[in-house]
Amino acid sequence: MLVLIHKECGGPAIDDSSIGEVCAIPIDRFPFHCFSCLEEIDDESEVRLSQEMGI
Ligand SMILES: [Zn+2]
Repeated sequence: MLVLIHKECGGPAIDDSSIGEVCAIPIDRFPFHCFSCLEEIDDESEVRLSQEMGI
């Protein structure tokens, strides 16, 4: 499963339980507020996709 990580705080940028599985950076959602630190994320340069291991 891929999760969207906010580079600045290192936490998840979106509440993944609300959108299910992230398979690409949701460019059409910008700008939005980071789920972890509530800072505004303007574009995809502020986030990265991370592979989360798990079953
Ligand atoms: Zn953040």
